[in-house]
Amino acid sequence: MSDVLATAAAVTGAARDHETMRALTLVADRKIELLDVAAPPSPAPGEVQIAIKAVGLNHLDVWGWRGMAFAKRKLPLVVGVEASAEVVASGAGVNAMQAGDRVVAYGGLTCGTCKACREGRDNLCENIAGIMGFHIDGFARDRINMPARLVIPVPAAVSLRDAACAPIAFATVQHMLFDNAKLEPGETILVQAGGSGIGTAAIQMAKAIGCTVITTVGDDAKAEKAKALGADHVINYRTERFEGVVRKLTGKRGVDVAFEHVGPETFNGSLLCLKRGGRLVTCGSTSGQSTTINLFQLYLQQYRIFGSFGASIRNVRESLAKMAAGMTPVIDTEVPLAEFERGLARLESRQVFGKIVVTF
Ligand SMILES: [Zn+2]
Repeated sequence: MSDVLATAAAVTGAARDHETMRALTLVADRKIELLDVAAPPSPAPGEVQIAIKAVGLNHLDVWGWRGMAFAKRKLPLVVGVEASAEVVASGAGVNAMQAGDRVVAYGGLTCGTCKACREGRDNLCENIAGIMGFHIDGFARDRINMPARLVIPVPAAVSLRDAACAPIAFATVQHMLFDNAKLEPGETILVQAGGSGIGTAAIQMAKAIGCTVITTVGDDAKAEKAKALGADHVINYRTERFEGVVRKLTGKRGVDVAFEHVGPETFNGSLLCLKRGGRLVTCGSTSGQSTTINLFQLYLQQYRIFGSFGASIRNVRESLAKMAAGMTPVIDTEVPLAEFERGLARLESRQVFGKIVVTF
């Protein structure tokens, strides 16, 4: 959509009849097309219309792009699970936001009324309609109407490019480390795949509270970058067995927390790195779906394992506050909207250090 049209919509508070806009649409497995679709109508009461400015790429996008047999969804599907935006118009009853406000969107279409929602555990909503960009249409389009309760203001000090990494990347890590694993200052943490979007965020967040960070990476160039980001010890998992190195680094004691998302390739190794009573938290499984674990080891060592998916709206606010205080996300690459698939291919190859952000 042109800036002229955006301005017109902001002034009138309404989209024009028959107006179209761009939407990046998954039409078949591994096939994304930039289509012209109808622009959204004026926002309904309780809604805001936002103009998307940046979309953060995540492994969830890669899974969706490759095709997921078990996911309930229909194609065509507008992609994009994580985004920053500017408010274009507000519906009736929305007083807290106005045109021009910079925001991020919470991509879980929660009910807002169930017990979990009322208690702020948004990612455990009992009636969730789906994850936008994965089960239902997402954010890689010019404009969208959203329930105002799912739109979160961005502090002035944070760029919209960086803010696009808050709703999933930063918030997921915030939820994993502090709500689930309850990471404490002074503890030692193993961060698997420290060069990934969430790995870089985990290193930053753990260092910020004074933890000792051990991380794994797949090549020496990434090792240098991870050290520059603050990691105390970096292990190239292709040249060294990380389990042995962690054991040595911790004086055979083990780490307090293991941050997992790689899956079968590293899961059991991560468990072996824990001290007795240690916590493993996982939010992903990029190397496959299943693994076996040793149950004797699980209970004798009193491990605690947390599955973690998504984050609460509070976690998104906490993430934006951290960014405002200077914890800026590591950006690997920025790609224009039309090159979304190039970004996905780069993410799939795991040849990244930090986040890939799609700009509009
Ligand atoms: Zn709910």
